[in-house]
Amino acid sequence: MAVAMGKATAVTTGKRAQMLIDGSWVDGVSGKQISVESPGNRQIIADIPRGGAEDIDRAVRAASKAFASWSRVVPRERGRMLQKIADAVEARVEELARIVAEETGNAIRTQARPEARGAADIIRYFGGLASELKGETIPLGEHVLSYTRREPIGVVGAIIPWNAPVILAALKIAPALCAGNTLVLKAAEDAPLGVLWLAAICQDHLPKGVLNVVTGYGEEAGAALSAHPHVRKLSFTGSTEVGKLIMRAASERIVPVSLELGGKSPSIVYPDANEDWVVDGIIAAMRFTRQSQSCTAGSRLFLHADIFDDFLGKLAEKTKKLKIGDPLDEATDVGAIINEKQFKKVCGYVEEGMKQSGSKLLFGGLPPKTGPLAQGYFAIPTVFANAANDWRLAREEIFGPVLVAIRWSDEAEAIRMANDSHYGLAAYVWTHDIGRALRAAHAIEAGWVQVNQGLGQSPGHSYGGIKQSGIGREFSLEGMLDSFTQKKNVTINLNTPSH
Ligand code: ADP
Repeated sequence: MAVAMGKATAVTTGKRAQMLIDGSWVDGVSGKQISVESPGNRQIIADIPRGGAEDIDRAVRAASKAFASWSRVVPRERGRMLQKIADAVEARVEELARIVAEETGNAIRTQARPEARGAADIIRYFGGLASELKGETIPLGEHVLSYTRREPIGVVGAIIPWNAPVILAALKIAPALCAGNTLVLKAAEDAPLGVLWLAAICQDHLPKGVLNVVTGYGEEAGAALSAHPHVRKLSFTGSTEVGKLIMRAASERIVPVSLELGGKSPSIVYPDANEDWVVDGIIAAMRFTRQSQSCTAGSRLFLHADIFDDFLGKLAEKTKKLKIGDPLDEATDVGAIINEKQFKKVCGYVEEGMKQSGSKLLFGGLPPKTGPLAQGYFAIPTVFANAANDWRLAREEIFGPVLVAIRWSDEAEAIRMANDSHYGLAAYVWTHDIGRALRAAHAIEAGWVQVNQGLGQSPGHSYGGIKQSGIGREFSLEGMLDSFTQKKNVTINLNTPSH
């Protein structure tokens, strides 16, 4: 497979990918490699450099050097470059979709292709915002002019996970660069190939050193990036556990940090919503077609007691129809779990749910040990009925297709249980009664509440979590201004004596 090919530079020799540092495609200083496995068939599809502290240092130095001129490029010109990148990605979206499906195990029709298109869309969106990097004037009186400027911060260090690698790469690259920063991006070791492909397209349109992409393990390349003294801002998407380490590293140097972390998002279904479209919405919100490897997965289903059994019957019928299998097959709805470690972890939760006293396995369960699905890391969408909100399955982020259904009869109790979590990322409310829906939406502790739909994020919407789901917003104009610029105030005395 050709892993990443820019107009200017071939990035691969056969299956061997390289990193982008200072406009050049390079191996790591150590010469060590990491193999990238396709979760759908467990084949090694490429080797990537196992970048470490020295590679990070080279990348940060290149980004520091590039910052001096990039930060002075007229913002609309930076925006135009992003627009050209968006055009180029769009023109080759199919290639990117296949790479993403192969390396992540996400099904091409339901996930990888929409993700590839989404990455182009995000870059285009931020490319159009360059003129919005505006400051304010402060009315302090006629004798003084006081205004603010939105200035870039400097070198941004961004670290992303594997679950939506190219969308998340686009979400760091586009706003950071539009605002005039330069970037060192650490791709996830499990899904670096789509990101390198995207970087190659970007490099065709950007000056060298503005975007650098380093591959490697979190504890090596990631930790070195978060601790590097010349990195002026850290932007991280991943687990809450690692988010805490990133925040600790940021605190050592007092650099601003944005964190998009985990979730255990509630879906509350009211008794008037026992309908097919709600069942479809629950399946969408649970992100079953992404193997539920999504921070916003609505993985705690709070169903009203009056409709509990009936609704779950419909959910079982519809979920059973999802086709699990080869991520590259257009007919597939649900692909594979990213790697063996996650696969075993998900199976462990399923086993625990089956042993839990009072639990009822409604459908799903452990994956088959033989047959075509045993060739890859395929988990089966699984629902446990009669769950309790204090089960480990209801408290921890599983990052796999395991849904727990919890019964409620009192609205206040449902909201109390929904909020009884250290996470606060997303939530879903399902009812025809708009008053009830909005009461619940306002009472739920989450950064994003959807009523009667279970969709993904769109550019323009301020997305991010509260509680241990994160800090900061990154999907919007405000997100770009807050997360990737710093404000400077300039105050001028207009009453100086004239010469
Ligand atoms: P996930 O569970 O989604 O893999 P992680 O938080 O483990 O989430 O990983 C997200 C990203 O953080 C990956 O790029 C990973 O390499 C990186 N990472 C993991 N550990 C560290 C660390 N100690 N310091 C910096 N980055 C890390």
